Amino acid sequence: MNSATTPDRTKQPLDNLEEWEDFLKTRYPEPVAAAPAAPAFKAIDPEKKKEEFRNYEADARPTVREFYRLNHRHQTFDFVQAKKREYLSFDRKKMGIWEAMEFLNNLVDDSDPDTDLSQLDHLLQAGEQIRHDGHPGWFVLTGLIHDLGKILCLFGEPQWAVVGDTFPVGCAYSDKVVFPQFFADNPDSQEPKYQTPNGIYEAGCGLDKVNLSWGHDEYLYQVTKDYLPQEALYMIRYHSFYAAHREGQYTHLMTDTDKQMFDWVRAFNPYDLYTKSHEKPDAKALRPYYEDLISQYFPATLRW
Ligand code: FE
Ligand code: FE
Repeated sequence: MNSATTPDRTKQPLDNLEEWEDFLKTRYPEPVAAAPAAPAFKAIDPEKKKEEFRNYEADARPTVREFYRLNHRHQTFDFVQAKKREYLSFDRKKMGIWEAMEFLNNLVDDSDPDTDLSQLDHLLQAGEQIRHDGHPGWFVLTGLIHDLGKILCLFGEPQWAVVGDTFPVGCAYSDKVVFPQFFADNPDSQEPKYQTPNGIYEAGCGLDKVNLSWGHDEYLYQVTKDYLPQEALYMIRYHSFYAAHREGQYTHLMTDTDKQMFDWVRAFNPYDLYTKSHEKPDAKALRPYYEDLISQYFPATLRW
């Protein structure tokens, strides 16, 4: 292999993006009693001790650890502003939703022979399980598209600027964000104005005004925000914000609407984490149903 095809492990520590998602599942294992769609999904497990949380960190693969180290080090307030300037002019590509799904599928994993599922498979599995559970079309569609923002990888972004738990920048870090110790290397941790609980924001200002670390959630939200209902947009925008939807942090920056809408983020999360199976969805057979669903909400092409 030449250097053009060999990933630089110091910059791209994960073998593949699945490694991050597998780590999420070890931190938040599927509840035994509850079915994946259980609406009474508990955001915070009062039984979970702080020490157990730390154990997940100790048990994490070195690649995952290194990935979070880079993520927490480099996701500064200024970095997020720069990425917004760079991407929110949407001048890279014009594609429809299905086309974007096929484009994302170029993100194949060539290093892990155990992973036989593609990004398209994950999206179809999430959509199909939501459909199976009888949820409305917009919810099914949200499952289908929720990770399309990962095309940032194909635009050359490093893993730590595409995936990973998201967290607010411009205010103090919650110690419930995974690997909080790595924030010590973030230059923002030396900026007093960014290290009060509210930081540069006002209490209760609403998450829309709060900058989260840059990644596939925010990018896809910005691409789709004119076309989907509010509940869907919350699911897309905050599905990686585990410190909020699983750990109950950052409520001091939320409005009442944010808090209510996070019920939908929590309703979505099991479909993201627990619907991966080895059964490969039949993309060809499913395509007409999903093309029809897509056309009910989206124009034929979108700007990316
Ligand atoms: Fe995601
Ligand atoms: Fe996902």
